Amino acid sequence: MTSKLIKLDEITKRYGYLEALKKVSFYLERGEFLSIFGPNGAGKSTLLKVLSSQTRPSSGQIFFDGIKLGDLPNDFRRNFGVISHQPFLYENLSAEANLKFYGKIYGLTDVGRRIDDILKKVELSDRKDDYVRNFSRGMLQRLSIARSLLHDPEIILLDEPYTGLDQHASYILSNILKEQFNHSKTIIMVTHNLNRGYDLASKIAIMKRGKIVFFDDKVNIPKYEFEDIYLAKVS
Ligand code: ADP
Ligand code: MG
Repeated sequence: MTSKLIKLDEITKRYGYLEALKKVSFYLERGEFLSIFGPNGAGKSTLLKVLSSQTRPSSGQIFFDGIKLGDLPNDFRRNFGVISHQPFLYENLSAEANLKFYGKIYGLTDVGRRIDDILKKVELSDRKDDYVRNFSRGMLQRLSIARSLLHDPEIILLDEPYTGLDQHASYILSNILKEQFNHSKTIIMVTHNLNRGYDLASKIAIMKRGKIVFFDDKVNIPKYEFEDIYLAKVS
């Protein structure tokens, strides 16, 4: 096994004549937490979609554990947990029934225990029998987090997960992410929250107009300088 769990080699993504990603290259080792910042339209969501195989790059290569994305077995996708803007939840099912459904898709054997554990973590245990259609936005988001982590994925991709969360739900999410990081999960998070994104990260990237304009280990970036660095890079 190579230590480069994720490697991108000159990834370009075109939508018509628009280049949403322009030769993006970087690698991450297992157990790293990359926070990605950047203004709207920078290509952050496109990058996560390319990584999670929701869309194919126009050119360039992605490697996981040294193997080309196209050569990986289908069930490699089990290694991913994705939290995006879509909650991927069924409104007419209860919280628990939603998780059971995903548990079946993933072929989990100990699904009952996992559901109990994860609902406790997102503080929805007492709402497990409620229909998802009656959930508030924050509750939906917390259940969506539970869904994406139910199968204990190695790689966690998050697209603006703090958007729409209240203080308490944000706190819960940060604690879950810290715990995942402590368990050596590899995490890539896009966020506009400079503070939380900085605090959680081991590596920091800034994107602008389809390019990575900054990429460094957090230890090299004093917190008090980070906002200025960010503003200078995106202006
Ligand atoms: P970010 O997440 O950083 O705000 P996106 O990755 O969503 O940026 O978008 C990058 C650029 O690609 C934007 O100009 C956006 O309009 C464009 N784009 C994203 N998705 C599509 C799509 N499916 N079709 C056409 N253009 C798209
Ligand atoms: Mg986006």
